[in-house]
Formats: sequence, C-alpha cells, structure tokens
Amino acid sequence: MIDEKLRARIAHAARGLAIGGKRVPGQAMMPSLDPGTGKAFVDVPAGAPADIDMAVAAARIALRGAWAKTAPAERGKILRRAADILRRDAHWIGAIETIDSGKPLKDGIAEANAAAAYFDYYAGAADKIEGDTIPQPGDVMSVTLREPIGVSAQILPSNFPLGTAARGVAPALAAGCAIVAKPSDHTPMTALILADVFDEAGLPAGIYNAVTGRGGEAGAALATHTGVDQITFTGSLATGRRILAAAAANVVPAAVELGGKSPLVVLADADLDAAAAVTAKQMFTHAGQVCSAPSLLILEKPIADALLDKLVARVRGLTVDHGLRDANLGAIASAGQVAHIERMVSDAREAGAELLTGGARPEIAGCPDGLYYAPTVLVASGAAQPIVREEVFGPVLTVLIAKDADEAFALADAGQYGLCASVFTNDLGRAFEFQRRVSAGQIYVNDWHLGGVQAPFGGVKRSGIGRERGLAGLEKYLRLKNVNIRPRALQP
Ligand code: NAD
Repeated sequence: MIDEKLRARIAHAARGLAIGGKRVPGQAMMPSLDPGTGKAFVDVPAGAPADIDMAVAAARIALRGAWAKTAPAERGKILRRAADILRRDAHWIGAIETIDSGKPLKDGIAEANAAAAYFDYYAGAADKIEGDTIPQPGDVMSVTLREPIGVSAQILPSNFPLGTAARGVAPALAAGCAIVAKPSDHTPMTALILADVFDEAGLPAGIYNAVTGRGGEAGAALATHTGVDQITFTGSLATGRRILAAAAANVVPAAVELGGKSPLVVLADADLDAAAAVTAKQMFTHAGQVCSAPSLLILEKPIADALLDKLVARVRGLTVDHGLRDANLGAIASAGQVAHIERMVSDAREAGAELLTGGARPEIAGCPDGLYYAPTVLVASGAAQPIVREEVFGPVLTVLIAKDADEAFALADAGQYGLCASVFTNDLGRAFEFQRRVSAGQIYVNDWHLGGVQAPFGGVKRSGIGRERGLAGLEKYLRLKNVNIRPRALQP
C-alpha cells in the first residue's frame, strides 16, 4: 500500500533525532507500527536520557542566539511559512500520519491542514504580545513585560500527533520560546517531519528539537529535566499525574490535557435527525480515539427509542478499513488498547449493559493482523458502571436514559472528567441552564466541536489543567515581569 516515493519520504523523516538543527542517529532504534496492518513500517531512534540532555542543551543555547534577536513580526513570518509548507505537503504528510496512527487518509490530510491553521493563527499573534502599565504615584513608572518562558517540553499523544504538536509548538514559537518535543512511541513520525518543515521555513537551528523514544525513558527524562522551564503534556490521566509530579519537583508550570467522558444530551424537543448524525460522526471519528469524543450519550426518556433507532442505523452504515483505503473508521493505536476496549465492553455487558451494535473485532481484508474494533453502541444498566465513568478511548458509545431534563443534566455533570459537553434542544432556557450546571471546558448547543483554533479548549476536573488554542493558549509560554522605574534616585 506504501509506494516507493512515500517510503523514501518515511525513511528521510526517520533518519535521526532532530537536535540543534542536525539529525543525530539514535544509539538504539525502535519500530513504529502501522496499526492498520499490525506490522512495523519504519524504525526510528529510541531516544535515551542522554539525547534529551543534548536536546535541552541545544534549546537553551539557541534561546540566547539569533532567536532572541528575531523581531516578533519575523517570528510570525516563519510561522506563516511553516503553515504554507504544511498545506503544500499535506497530501504526503497526511498519508504518513495515516500509516503511523491508523486514521483514515482524509483525516490524516485534514490534520496536516489543521496544523497549518494553528501556525497561521499564532503567526498573527507573534507581534501583538503586549504588557500593561500600572498606575503609580509621582513619576514612578510601573510596566509589565511578557517574556518567553524559555524551554518548553512538549510531550505528545498518539491520536493527533501532528495536530497536538502544532497546537503547542505554534504558540510557544510565537511567544519566542524554544522547544523539545517528545512524540508518542506509537506515532513518532510527524514530530520529526516538523523539524524539516521548520528548517525550510527558516527557524533558527535548535529552537525546535524532536526526540523520539519511549515514554518511560525519553518522556520521563524530558519531564524531569531541570533545564526545562515549562511542560505541555497531552495524554492519559495516569501519565498526566506523573507529569504534574515531575513539574512540582522542579517547580515549573505544566499544562496537562487529559482524557474525557464527554456527555452529549438530547432533550425531547431536539432535532433528532441532527442529534443522531452529529453523534455518529463525532463519536466515531478516528475510531473514537479522540479525547473530546461525545462518548456518553444521555437521552431524555420520551425520545430515547426513536433517537437510538436513527443512531444505530447510521452506526451500522459506518465502514472500517485500513486508513489508506479511507473508510469511516481506521485502526486502533496498539494491541494493548484493543484489549482494553474488549475488556471494558465485556465487563459492561456482564454488568447488564445492552449491546445495540458492534462489540467485536471486525475482519479486514488483506490486514489479518490489523488492530480494529467495530463501532459499538451500548445502553448502560446504571450510571455507576465503569463504562459510564471511565474513558474507553475506542469506538464505543455508552448510552444512559434519563427520566427528564433535570436528571439528564445531573448525569452530564456527575463524572470525574470535564472536557466537552453538549445539549441538543430548541429551548434556549434549557440550553442556558445546561451551560450553568455542567462543568466542562467547552460547551456546545445543538452541535459538537465548535470554536476551532480561535476558541480556548481544555479541561476541568480530571480532564486537565490549562488551555490550548486561542489567545488563552499563548499565556503558558509567557512569564510576567514587572519593571518599576524611578527616573532619579530620591535624595536621602
Ligand atoms: P499516554 O499517556 O499513554 O502517552 C502520552 C505521552 O506521554 C506519550 O508521548 C508517551 O510516550 C508519554 N509518556 C508515557 N509515560 C511517560 C512518563 N512516565 N513520563 C513522561 N512521558 C510519558 O497517552 P496516549 O495513549 O498517547 O493518548 C491518549 C490519551 O490522551 C487519552 O486519554 C486522550 O483522552 C488523551 N488526549 C487528550 C487530549 C486533550 O486535548 N485533552 C488530546 C488528545 C489526547
């Protein structure tokens, strides 16, 4: 399925760790899996703590070099050039993302274009980072400066490797920081490709470094490194806790974007066709491996059967295949994750959940070892079931039925996570009540995933700390310095 030209691009991107503007061969290598075939398609360097030391040192040196003298508007131009390159090359970068992550090709290409949108957005912000003046008595002047925080460690997840890299790297560069990125060991390719994009865009050497490697080795070495000034982490709750502990030990700030069990509530007066269509599309994008998937559907009782009929018909129509064959759903990141999905579904069924569709591994022609799971809809037997409370991170939609809107809103706010939440209703009063009662970083009414690059995104409760996207996403890369000036010393 991979032609010669693409194979050459993969080998070129994987030629070494990106440190200090050079490619450094790894001391050891590790395979990266195409989860669609279940087979390794490339070997990449398995970065060691010594490689992280080198990358952090390179970033610290580069911060004090040409980058410190680069005008903010010039930083913006570099980001814009990076956006143009990503768009120009989206077809093959997207194909490599597809092979590495398992997602359908159109989604891999869309991710490269979405990455470009982050660089465009923050390009415009680079020369608009301003401070304040603070009123003072007499001729004292008090101002705030917003300086780059320094070296940002970016520890990336497996589901949107390039999109998440761009989400953190673009504002960090706009702010004037230097970066050491550590992609997921499941999806190492696009963080390396970004290094070539930045070379072409004219970013000074050493400002963006990428070290592939395993979480417990390269990841832990980066999170605990005393040369790091700030950490941006996207991944699971369990790893997020480790990152926060590492940040606490070094007393540096960490933004952690973690998991979710995001509720989508459909009230009795809603447009049921629209609600079913949005749920089927958003829940099963990238086979449900989306932190903000609407993975908990809460239905008001009078319309529950009608909505489920429409939804299940749509879900049964979804196709599953290798990402390069561009079906609705592609593969699951790892064999361990497929086993986790299977376990959660079988435990839920044993505890009384009713399976409406899916619930098995499909056979995919030509991919006997591929990692797939069928799109699945389950009606939970009660709100206390683990399948209602915990993230599956796969194509499994859990349904709860509520007796009325009041109970539906209470269920939507009951979980440990708080990433996104939506209500489908034509009653504006109910919509306002929903946004008041439900704790989540992002709320939608009559849709899902609105807001785009410009709107702040992030979690409350166990979904994380900090905000990505929008101007709020810049703040973590800036530190505030207050400068107070008395023009002449007071006479004693
Ligand atoms: P993960 O926690 O397994 O891995 C994330 C990253 O952490 C990887 O780069 C990994 O190598 C690294 N890592 C692992 N152990 C480490 C350690 N001890 N020290 C330092 N780094 C370590 O998560 P994943 O499976 O790649 O991603 C899926 C999770 O990410 C899901 O829970 C999903 O909801 C979440 N996610 C959240 C968002 C968001 O914006 N909130 C976006 C995407 C994914």
